[in-house]
Amino acid sequence: MDYTISITNKCNLKCTYCYERHLNTEYGCITSDIRGKIADFINSRNDVGVLYLFGGEPLLYKDTVKYYCESIKAKKYVITTNGTLLEEEFIKWCADRKVTINMSHDGIECTDRGVDTALLDANLKTLLKYQPDTLVQLVYTEETLPKLYDNLMYLHKLGVKKVSAVMDSFLQPADPDAFGDILREQWRKVSEIKDLYVYELATKKKRIKENKQSLCEICKKKIFINWDGNIYPCVQFQNRPEYNCGSIFTGIKAEEARKAHPDYSMVSERCKGCEISKYCRNSCACRKMATTNSVRDISEAACMEEQVHILTALEIITKENGG
Ligand code: SF4
Ligand code: SF4
Repeated sequence: MDYTISITNKCNLKCTYCYERHLNTEYGCITSDIRGKIADFINSRNDVGVLYLFGGEPLLYKDTVKYYCESIKAKKYVITTNGTLLEEEFIKWCADRKVTINMSHDGIECTDRGVDTALLDANLKTLLKYQPDTLVQLVYTEETLPKLYDNLMYLHKLGVKKVSAVMDSFLQPADPDAFGDILREQWRKVSEIKDLYVYELATKKKRIKENKQSLCEICKKKIFINWDGNIYPCVQFQNRPEYNCGSIFTGIKAEEARKAHPDYSMVSERCKGCEISKYCRNSCACRKMATTNSVRDISEAACMEEQVHILTALEIITKENGG
């Protein structure tokens, strides 16, 4: 089982696409009372694969992050950070313990997020010194999509070898046809960047080659532990009582949520008859919830993004197979 602990939903940035701000929930962080209880709960289950330390910005509470890396027994530890609070000492501490740091950086222009790009560049370079294979996570909006290739090249020139580029979940294009054309053009250019691992294309290629669809299920392979100790299936469901799956005090109670939400992994109406459906992430409840605020549908923009990823991945496979 993979576990995500939300250290806090507070953050020192103000990204327009922030999922936390759109969730509109109460802000808080793990208190000293609850800190050890979360570790005890997870350790008592003795089944941890990956432990994700998440936020908000988890490094607002570095001590808590360090505490979980040291006190919870896991096969792998991953911290997701906006990078603003990274210091060399902390990066070194993580590198010595093989704790992976994933950092977000949107490329050439980050001031809209409330951060100086030069600061992020400097912190990223220090991180790459200790973790050269760091996964850098970029979010693109309708405005920044035309510069997706440029922004990824910018990161690549800073020394980044692995990126993930994700669309703003709330995106609703004003002109879907024009948007689709730019999306296709940008992703084609991205696929041609040499020596850059692009998570979305790599995983799509894998899915096409394996030729099997995976279904999203409530608390079967991963759980999300909120900073208040409540358990939910995934980040997008935090503080939605109808999806609560117990707490660190009562244990995981996923059966009721599974019964109450048989539509959790349903494929939406728009996907009926879609020929590339089996390669698509259309059953991912977290993605459906993020893009439409419902588990019954996926947004038009997310559907277009899937189509573009699948087409681009198919082109790469065709090229690799000699045309
Ligand atoms: S860095 Fe992450 S948590 Fe912080 S405002 Fe941006 S999207 Fe939200
Ligand atoms: S590409 Fe779009 S229509 Fe097809 S399965 Fe995916 S989300 Fe549904």
